[in-house]
Amino acid sequence: MQITRNATETAPGPADWFTGSVLIDAVAAPGEGSRISASAVRFTPGARTAWHTHPNGQTIYVTEGVGRCQRRGGPVEVIRPGDRVFFEPREEHWHGAAPDRFMTHIAMVEVDEAGNAADWGTHVSDEEYSSPVGE
Ligand code: MN
Repeated sequence: MQITRNATETAPGPADWFTGSVLIDAVAAPGEGSRISASAVRFTPGARTAWHTHPNGQTIYVTEGVGRCQRRGGPVEVIRPGDRVFFEPREEHWHGAAPDRFMTHIAMVEVDEAGNAADWGTHVSDEEYSSPVGE
């Protein structure tokens, strides 16, 4: 058993991987005998990830606000608290806040043998970010 006290600093999302201001708190860290990596991620309005993939897929669970997500070739979808999204292994996608709302989600992945959680691509342009369905 290992207790990690609430002393880890909130980390900003790196600019290479995110557009806008994003704040990340660790929920579960992979290590001895566990490949689970989980984070609480807070996106300010308009902030979003870059395009990326996960070697073993990813589940996000929205806890607050209004967000958007998209898989490559699909429509931009609106996501709300209580929604969860599974991105398939190697499925290219992005996720983030709505333009005028915060969005918080818990993100969960299994890292690969090398400890890699994601492979990152280009930023999501304003054009790609716009035009959601289901508004
Ligand atoms: Mn993802």
